[in-house]
Amino acid sequence: MNSEVPSPGRDLAGLTALVTGGASGIGLATARLLAARGARLAVLDRDPRVLPEAERAELGALACDVTDDEAVRASVAAAAERLGGLDILVNNAGIGAQGTVADNDDEEWRRVLDVNVLGMVRVTRAALPHLRRSKAAAVVNTCSIAATAGLPQRALYSASKGAVLALTLAMAADHIREGIRVNCVNPGTAATPWVDRLLQAAEDPEAERAALNARQPLGRLVTAQEVAAAIVYLASPASGSTTGTALPVDGGMAGLRLRPP
Ligand code: NAD
Repeated sequence: MNSEVPSPGRDLAGLTALVTGGASGIGLATARLLAARGARLAVLDRDPRVLPEAERAELGALACDVTDDEAVRASVAAAAERLGGLDILVNNAGIGAQGTVADNDDEEWRRVLDVNVLGMVRVTRAALPHLRRSKAAAVVNTCSIAATAGLPQRALYSASKGAVLALTLAMAADHIREGIRVNCVNPGTAATPWVDRLLQAAEDPEAERAALNARQPLGRLVTAQEVAAAIVYLASPASGSTTGTALPVDGGMAGLRLRPP
């Protein structure tokens, strides 16, 4: 099956974009696609060293932890100055958590919400003055099917993504008359280094991967490129009348009621 999404050309030339968590997985695929489509970029990541050096420069990577408000403000200001403004913000940095409410203590709840929810708030707050000056302002938040699906063993992660969904809708309402669109994508299980790490921790990673693929309605995981294509659509003027939506990229996981194979 061909899971590569063809690029429709350099239609984003002249636009500038900031992607958080852009050194890996969905964020990196998004940064690469935005660059291929002609946008000029800055990538914020707590660990940009995972990128090859040439790509670090090409994508304008800056080391920044989204839990550090001072660092966020300095990095967003530096990015906007270098790029000459900001049109697109992709709030993508996020971390996982497993377990029921009984399994994570307050400290763990604060740690995950600090990245997944407050991280988005901090970056958006710093980016808003720049987005207000743009003629094509768009914010795309990486949410998850966990926001709406009732997944077992994901209480904290699901709560964090539920907050991202609510935040997306509230931000869309607050900023619509300023010309800033706000949407989110809801990926299903996507083949990224994050999921690789989880599989590697299993007793038999290859058997676990096969079982995970078999549980997907499509029989395979979503690709990072497919999620990136949805993010870039919502970030681009092509979706100019779309705001306050959550676009599933989940291989049918949330919408279909299929019998298990
Ligand atoms: P990933 O681990 O491959 O990439 C995440 C990136 O975010 C990393 O480069 C990491 O360094 C960065 N990051 C993490 N915490 C940060 C912080 N505090 N400050 C700055 N950068 C930070 O993961 P991924 O699978 O590409 O996930 C990206 C987003 O997609 C997350 O928000 C995640 O919740 C969401 N998501 C992933 C899946 C999936 O199955 N992979 C499914 C649904 C939603």
